[in-house]
Amino acid sequence: MQSLSKSQIRQLFPDCSAADLALPDLTHVDWGVLDYFGWLHSAGHSGFVVFADSDGLKGMRLRRSINTTSRPRTHMCSWCHHVYRSRGTALFSTTVHGSDGRRFIGNHICRNLDCSLRIRNLVSDPPTYLPETLHIEHKSTRLRNAVKAFMVRANVCA
Ligand SMILES: [Zn+2]
Repeated sequence: MQSLSKSQIRQLFPDCSAADLALPDLTHVDWGVLDYFGWLHSAGHSGFVVFADSDGLKGMRLRRSINTTSRPRTHMCSWCHHVYRSRGTALFSTTVHGSDGRRFIGNHICRNLDCSLRIRNLVSDPPTYLPETLHIEHKSTRLRNAVKAFMVRANVCA
């Protein structure tokens, strides 16, 4: 995706204070390998996703919950299809915009929001349990479609 400045990103989250947003240092972000820009609040309870499509930039704040009680089993990220042998995904959820806080949606996604790096094998811990022979362009398109679909369901974009 195109490189973004901190102010561009802040504009997408007008309801978040700087402390809520906890924007990371962008100096070393390799935008060229990202399908979406995602980061976690250091407290771990929330994550942020910025996505660009033909309509422009969209931002989404998500609650993150990690299930530490269930026994380890394989989990697949709904967005990038990375398969973890045990733990590795977290449930990211959000309130559907315009539902007066009555409707929630959630997806099990890579717990560090690093799907883009995983489909390009730029993180190795842990490698996917079920490797695919799909070309990277297809993986990237599938990932972007999944993020977009989630944002549409959340009423973040039309
Ligand atoms: Zn993922």
